[in-house]
Amino acid sequence: MTVPILMYHQIHIPPAHKMPFRSMIVHPDRFRSQMRWLKRLGYKGLSLRDAVPYIEGRAHGKVAVITFDDGFRNVYENALPVLQEHGFTATNFFVANQIGGQNEWDIPIGIQPTPCMSPTQLREWAALGHEVGAHTLDHVHLPDVPLKEAKRQIGGSRDVLQDILGAPVTSFAYPYGDENARLRDMAREVGFTHAVTTERRKTLPSDDSFGLPRLTIRRNDTWLHFLKKCLI
Ligand SMILES: [Zn+2]
Repeated sequence: MTVPILMYHQIHIPPAHKMPFRSMIVHPDRFRSQMRWLKRLGYKGLSLRDAVPYIEGRAHGKVAVITFDDGFRNVYENALPVLQEHGFTATNFFVANQIGGQNEWDIPIGIQPTPCMSPTQLREWAALGHEVGAHTLDHVHLPDVPLKEAKRQIGGSRDVLQDILGAPVTSFAYPYGDENARLRDMAREVGFTHAVTTERRKTLPSDDSFGLPRLTIRRNDTWLHFLKKCLI
């Protein structure tokens, strides 16, 4: 049994002009249509936490894992109502030092400043049954920083989010999908139980829980592209 883990970033109207990573902004109408397709085909959209028994082969059924990176406010505004409407859950991987802030890490590479969810919005996300995952303190390239700093970034993000939430945070996403064996160990050591990368394929029950692959859903993916990624 293989499970697709879908990766989104922003759910918002993409800018008309070209800019770096515009492909990572999916139009709200397209997101709604993708969730509708999943439902129509008998799939249940689940957070990583809720999907673990399926990924590990202990439960069976049509499941697609829905994940968002970076904790953007436009996911709260535009995706959350759609998830609720379909009875789906999802995981958002938050950059802990930017709760109520913005995507500071993107600005040097020419991406528009975009607000991240506030602490109140993060708590509401969780209260509605969705998962709060961690994505470091500052969205760093983990293999490029000293080990001590990498551990502070990984463990610190878990601590900050758990303080805001008052509940355990067990899922982690490596920024830019940058990871290695040492970083997987670190994520385990600080208390996470699962971590996702950006390796492009569906999961297999034999996958390392700290190296789960994901499928990127892009701005211009048609419904056919979308279904191919999910089903094949
Ligand atoms: Zn990210």
